[in-house]
Amino acid sequence: RVSDGTVRIAVIGLGWWTVDQAIPAIDASGLCETTVTVSSTSEKAKRVAAGVETATHGLSYDEFHAGEAADAYDAVYICSPNALHLPYARTAAELGKAVLCEKPIEASSERGQQMVDACDEAGVPLIVGYRMHTEPAIRRARKLIRDGVIGDPVHAIGTNSQAMLELISDPNQWRLDPELAGPGATVTDIGIYPLNTCRFLLDSDPVAAQAFMQSSHDAFDQVPDEHSSFMVEFDDGTYLAATASQNAQATTSLRIVGTNGEILVEPAFHMETEIRVTRDDVSVTLDTPQVNQMTELFDYAADRILTDAPIGPDGEHGVLDMRLIEAVYEAGESGRVVTL
Ligand code: NDP
Repeated sequence: RVSDGTVRIAVIGLGWWTVDQAIPAIDASGLCETTVTVSSTSEKAKRVAAGVETATHGLSYDEFHAGEAADAYDAVYICSPNALHLPYARTAAELGKAVLCEKPIEASSERGQQMVDACDEAGVPLIVGYRMHTEPAIRRARKLIRDGVIGDPVHAIGTNSQAMLELISDPNQWRLDPELAGPGATVTDIGIYPLNTCRFLLDSDPVAAQAFMQSSHDAFDQVPDEHSSFMVEFDDGTYLAATASQNAQATTSLRIVGTNGEILVEPAFHMETEIRVTRDDVSVTLDTPQVNQMTELFDYAADRILTDAPIGPDGEHGVLDMRLIEAVYEAGESGRVVTL
């Protein structure tokens, strides 16, 4: 599949995250390179490709689906609106390409499962781009929790908010369109960070959810959650209480409390991560490497593709998150506890 130890990537969907973050991060990776850009028009794709030293082709979505330049890449990185992840993943799988897909895996668990099935049938790896899984401070925190440093984990408190009103008020912004975003604007997009990072740190799976949510600003009239607050019960008996907002001061943190101590991740999710460990009334901020989280993610994905080693955030992992997110929205709407 891969020629000379470098994974050649076709990046799909040339929005701000791909152009400002992903392409430079791939550039900085020692294990992969961007060779193809894929966009709504071949003109835009070629224009972006012209600014990327390693890129040889710029394709429209139609050209991509028709299999053009398929010899020029080994894997795809999908960074389109959530409900458009599946068609690109399907085509990539049919072409025998590995798939790295942005979070959330898709706009629903059902469509996420279809992606898993398509990749399984084609025998290609599927990795969901949870960049916290490859963040050194988070990996360190996970090991400390495993090693019993905070005793037995009891509960977690997380938040992820951002002041996105200006961006999100753009009438073309897909995050406010349930057809493209999935069940809502907040939990699906940013609440997924405390939710999934807690799941990763505790190495536990969710079993039930409860939620409150509200939208008061006009911009959010299509979605239930300008602001959201949710609780998750995990299969080890621990709980997460979390909040998320697209219209609040940017704040990110996650606190894991155990019987003998706690780990505070703060800042947590906005591309900068630090951890503070407290045990027996002594608190220490750990000196963990400050990295480009997207480069770490691409290095990890390329390594998995090159070595066929087991994938942590695989398709099934992403589908379970979507089932939890659906449960959170159902709980918010019904006011009841929803079990998975
Ligand atoms: P943008 O709106 O900035 O970009 C999405 C791009 O998708 C567009 O620029 C467009 O590219 C393409 N696209 C294809 N069809 C459509 C359509 N119908 N409507 C709008 N755009 C379309 O989104 P983001 O880059 O912010 O998000 C893309 C994905 O990345 C999402 O799944 C999101 O959750 C994820 N993300 C992850 C982050 C992380 O921290 N890991 C951070 C930000 C986003 P073109 O013009 O080339 O066709």
